[in-house]
Amino acid sequence: MIFSIADKLEKVRARIQKATISAKRAPDSVQLLAVSKTRAAAELFELIEAGQTQFGENYLNEALDKQRALASLCLVQTKKEQLASVIWHFIGPIQSNKTRAIAENFAWVQSIDRAKIVQRLDAQRPVHLGPLNCCIQVNIDEEETKSGVNLAEVDLLAAEIEATPNLSLRGLMCIPDADQDEASLRASFKRMADKFAALRQRYPSVDTLSMGMSGDIEIAIECGSTMVRVGTALFGERTTETMQKQ
Ligand SMILES: *Cc1c(COP(=O)(O)O)cnc(C)c1O
Repeated sequence: MIFSIADKLEKVRARIQKATISAKRAPDSVQLLAVSKTRAAAELFELIEAGQTQFGENYLNEALDKQRALASLCLVQTKKEQLASVIWHFIGPIQSNKTRAIAENFAWVQSIDRAKIVQRLDAQRPVHLGPLNCCIQVNIDEEETKSGVNLAEVDLLAAEIEATPNLSLRGLMCIPDADQDEASLRASFKRMADKFAALRQRYPSVDTLSMGMSGDIEIAIECGSTMVRVGTALFGERTTETMQKQ
């Protein structure tokens, strides 16, 4: 049987709903971010038609091309409005020469990992767009190959974001080690949830704990995720990722 992207969206929504109920959490407490890296504009268009509003992109040039391609697919007024309601999240590693385009073309940045990036995004965010929503990326399993700060470094970076006029501190994001067993994964998510709770106490704007991907949506929600980032379960396996890196 062949499932359309809209069918897959229904399935992912059902997984989120079921996990939210099992965890005895409020019905709308977990948002779905569609991770659309390597995917064509037409595929995003299908998801937008099916009611998905939040999209995450990892590679800046690819994302900008796609935003333009979508605009040319959405020429009639009703589609323009639908596209205007899409919320774009930047979730990939940030090179400092890319911060201006990120600040101008995204509503959220989830991969903040150093003060220099905070300063640049704040200086380059167009004021008329309102504050740029920011999550600090935590390298929760302290892997050499991953970006993100260690838990001990979160407070300092949070304070730097909080001190800026054009950035709004919204929470934390992590990509745990994919090779660990379920118990260690759960422990990693719990460490994130504890840090999130502490941050939330200090800063009222903090409301987002971005964790959980296609393979671990349920465990992440059980551990307190408020936003799961899902690619494969919505679009199928990626094959072209290495070609798209920039
Ligand atoms: C690719 C990616 C995802 C989605 O992963 P899937 O396993 O395809 O659901 C989530 N978050 C980040 C930061 C990613 O780069």
